[in-house]
Amino acid sequence: DFVKAMIMDGENLEQDQTRIQESKSDLEKQLQEDRKTLPIYQYRDALLQAVSDHQVLVIVGETGSGKTTQIPQYLHEAGYTKRGKIGCTQPRRVAAMSVATRVSKELGVKLGHEVGYSIRFEDCTSEKTVLKYMTDGMLLREFLGEPDLASYSVVMIDEAHERTVSTDILFGLVKDIARFRPDLKLLISSATLDAEKFSDFFDSAPIFKIPGRRYPVEIHYTKAPEADYLDAAIVTALQIHATQPPGDGDILVFLTGQEDIETAGEALKHRMRGLGMKIPELIICPIYANLPTELQSKIFEPTPEGARKVVLATNIAETSLTIDGIKYVIDPGFCKMKSYNPRTGMESLLVRPISKASANQRAGRSGRTGPGKCFRLYTAYNYYQDLEDNSVPEIQLTNLANVVLTLMSLGIHDLVNFDFMDPPPSETVIKALEMLYALGALNSDGELTKIGRKMAEFPIDPMLSKMIVASDKYKCSDEIITIAAMLSVGNSIFYRPPKDKLVYADNARKSFHEGNVGDHIALLNIYTSWKDTGFDSEWCYDNYIQFRSMKRARDIRDQLQGLLERVEIQISSNSQDFDAIKKAITSGFFLHSARLYNSGLPSSSLYRTVKHPHTVHIHPTSGLAKEFLPRWVIYNELVLTSKEYMRQVTQVKPEWLNEIAPHYYQLKKV
Ligand code: ADP
Ligand code: MG
Repeated sequence: DFVKAMIMDGENLEQDQTRIQESKSDLEKQLQEDRKTLPIYQYRDALLQAVSDHQVLVIVGETGSGKTTQIPQYLHEAGYTKRGKIGCTQPRRVAAMSVATRVSKELGVKLGHEVGYSIRFEDCTSEKTVLKYMTDGMLLREFLGEPDLASYSVVMIDEAHERTVSTDILFGLVKDIARFRPDLKLLISSATLDAEKFSDFFDSAPIFKIPGRRYPVEIHYTKAPEADYLDAAIVTALQIHATQPPGDGDILVFLTGQEDIETAGEALKHRMRGLGMKIPELIICPIYANLPTELQSKIFEPTPEGARKVVLATNIAETSLTIDGIKYVIDPGFCKMKSYNPRTGMESLLVRPISKASANQRAGRSGRTGPGKCFRLYTAYNYYQDLEDNSVPEIQLTNLANVVLTLMSLGIHDLVNFDFMDPPPSETVIKALEMLYALGALNSDGELTKIGRKMAEFPIDPMLSKMIVASDKYKCSDEIITIAAMLSVGNSIFYRPPKDKLVYADNARKSFHEGNVGDHIALLNIYTSWKDTGFDSEWCYDNYIQFRSMKRARDIRDQLQGLLERVEIQISSNSQDFDAIKKAITSGFFLHSARLYNSGLPSSSLYRTVKHPHTVHIHPTSGLAKEFLPRWVIYNELVLTSKEYMRQVTQVKPEWLNEIAPHYYQLKKV
């Protein structure tokens, strides 16, 4: 009987598997049908012809027309992958992952096999991979190992209109290799109207236009400026939801970053509860760069009948990702951007008004599948009078030390004559060279040093890579790569619970700061405690720490450890000697130093940056903010919200600045 039962089971299993296969091929069939409905499908043959006729092609088409997901597949079907890979760059890591996932489904292959993606600290490709989606920064780094991109038959610089620093640098590099690699096909694709500019830059390359379909979008402005854009966005979303039938369409809200998105998500949940049972379900879907991969796909799931979806997104949903079914767009008119002062070398993140071009892209997201509505939470006067026409390319707004170091290690020393589409201000380039010199990456002749060559191996900012390289001297590379990994995860280590539990979270957080060790050592303490539990998820939960962020830190740490071996730095541990660890940190971050400034006010927490005096504060989330204000500190980054804040702060001794960077801090100043 037992044997019989087993046979029966076997039969059932077989039946089940056939069923699974049938439904799988149904899904594949459906996906193949869907591909044919995209605007780009009609132009498939013409596009392939144009690619065959020209080495460089500029492609323009509305967002959602199918450029990113379809063009690499068309080229694959046409045989281009027989000669090499097709690489497609994205300015955002979430887009690279999400699009690769989609294309692997359309092709019916496992992600990481024929279709893969590569983003910083995460390589999901294999020897089989022929369609490779990657961030623009990763392709830039590939030049280090393969200066002619010999393994590629096609390179597609996608979302070119985003004009990130990496994309701008890639323009110059790929234009150069195209000259001596006539077999390489180059596609520059963009959602907006900069096409002429791209064409001009690439020696009058032809422009291939994909006519999109767009339904009319009704634009609404507010009568008066909104004092609180976040609250206004929440109220508008609820109004739409409460007054329009749910089957009507979903809502997309553009917010500035993770913090805004989390706050808005909580507020929406809370207020929905207050509205009671009569209101249909509202499904809240956040999407931002640091959102864990498992949660990213949620935004693409079809909305169940009788419910409505509200997507809370950063700029990523402006052109990089297309979410079907959006009928309402809420646009508060802001985005988070870097701002850089080349005179002082200070960089900070701040919330700024968007450009008209952005506002129009955002509005357009509501009219893809039918007529849409866009609610601008600013006045018509604001739009016409205050907004710039176009966003400023990032290369004009950011610290270039990282890029300059990469270019130097590619052997490109003459940055003044580099072929930029829009050259960065020369003072920004000079500042970058000065900074690399101060860090010891360049010598006084402007040549890359041994330290600089080691630093360039790490795909992270020069201050962080210098900290890692310097840890060799202080025999604490083990601790320092942990700190670097934790800093690289960003500000998503701590879980922020609802208000009533906040005090528990604060207490948990405090325990890692015992002895006012500073934020860097606190990060190390968190990681070490977690490691001691065997990387336990319960432990994270109990301590209000995000398990996913910790796993990511562990992955990054593993990779940094691999890179240490590559640059021949021994793993050494010096966990008891906090001064040694802090000195290694200071070796990377001495440019970010500040001293307590006696304003005469009681309990004043004003600090002055040392080199270019400037008033800053310790961020309230710092372990040092509350009880103890050290006289001298170094910080990881500056953020500008209501005030200019230093985030991730550690106490240092002033004599260390002299000892570590005598060329930068003359004695008399300290
Ligand atoms: P474009 O690059 O021209 O903006 P895409 O190729 O990104 O267009 O998108 C084409 C279509 O593919 C979108 O309209 C959307 O329906 C679908 N799509 C893209 N990415 C995903 C995804 N990750 N999940 C589900 N559908 C997707
Ligand atoms: Mg695209």
